[in-house]
Amino acid sequence: MSKNAELLNRRNSAVVRGVGHVTPISVSHARNAELWDLDGKRYIDFAAGIAVLNTGHCHPKIVAAVKKQMDQYTHTCFQVVMYEPYIALSERLNAIAPFKGAAKSVLLSTGAEATENAVKIARASTSRTGVIAFTGAFHGRTIMASAMTGKVVPYKKNLGPAMPEVWHLPFPMEYHGITPEMSFRQLDYLFAADVDPSRVAAIIIEPVQGEGGFHVAPPDFMRTLRKVCDAHGILLIADEVQTGFGRTGKMFAMEHYDVEPDLICVAKSLAGGFPLSGVIGKAEIMDAPSPGGLGGTYAGNPLACAAALAVLDVIKEERLLDRANRIGARLTSRLNGIKSRNDVMPIANIRGLGAMIGFDITDGDGRPDAAATKRTIENAYSSGLILLSCGTTANTIRLLSPLTIEDDVLEQGLDILESCLGLE
Ligand code: PMP
Repeated sequence: MSKNAELLNRRNSAVVRGVGHVTPISVSHARNAELWDLDGKRYIDFAAGIAVLNTGHCHPKIVAAVKKQMDQYTHTCFQVVMYEPYIALSERLNAIAPFKGAAKSVLLSTGAEATENAVKIARASTSRTGVIAFTGAFHGRTIMASAMTGKVVPYKKNLGPAMPEVWHLPFPMEYHGITPEMSFRQLDYLFAADVDPSRVAAIIIEPVQGEGGFHVAPPDFMRTLRKVCDAHGILLIADEVQTGFGRTGKMFAMEHYDVEPDLICVAKSLAGGFPLSGVIGKAEIMDAPSPGGLGGTYAGNPLACAAALAVLDVIKEERLLDRANRIGARLTSRLNGIKSRNDVMPIANIRGLGAMIGFDITDGDGRPDAAATKRTIENAYSSGLILLSCGTTANTIRLLSPLTIEDDVLEQGLDILESCLGLE
């Protein structure tokens, strides 16, 4: 039996089935955009730990920063004994986040904690309770975060009751027939039928939906959303957990919009593989919860903060924002080439921002083909490419290679993708 298969058997006996897995592969070691499994097979990684490794696996500068930190101290709990990396990282995040005035930060551990804490901050600041999110959104798996997540299976089914006072609006996706006007009409209905706007603390939105299918919020839509928030004293939370830290060609996807959010949730590629998240926001809003209202034993762990400081240096030194745009252009042009072929499975709706690019796999009649998408993911990892799907109809392939990927490795990955799309 192969070493991968052996470990898979142990995993199936020891680990719950509720934690799913995309591939049966177990890693031995990894470097930049490549990883090797326990049987020595090499893979190109277009999943990057679900958008966590914009700076690649084991970037030498990030590894060195963490090793240095490890020799000094690894944990004190920031609420007990403070440490400089937490404060230095907060200062840097406040300086680079797209806020016009003073900003403040709180550091946490996971994306779900970031979205949960953003809601707590919004509630404390507005003295209101309600939250509006979007269909297809993903904000995490904890109880409040999964209430805001806009997908029932597998995130909510049999796991309820959901937290009260969370409502969903349709996320605009013109190619699926949902216009911004339809979303706002739904908002009018919501305010008329379910909740008075004066009870809504926040609207939370991913500028580009991640798990929901790589849908980009149109600029006009974002602008009107801001106006709605301002008209009713509602805060606008941008969930940038997946879009953050260079993925879309800007440090934050909100920089693509002339719209200032009130709070931004960050995680994933912030710390190059170390568990770190945070909320950055307008200082007066961020200071609404009283001391003790926010935090966590491991929140803002020093090793993760050291990693994040190195990540920010690497993004700058290696010009990864430009690189994201170049990768995005290359992905789009290769995908358009594949789309124009008539000897591969039909692909449609190539979309995204920067290097956050996705496309749909459809059947001959243009309907979502989740089964073909699943087979493509399986054929890809059998052929040495790790890919992820997403989307409420499970027929979107999302491309999330590290931004540090070498050109030839990117092309090899795309060659494998193209050949897998031909395998029908
Ligand atoms: N928000 C967004 C936009 C995400 O993509 C994710 C994770 N996929 C989360 C929140 C939750 O992050 P975590 O899994 O770290 O809790």
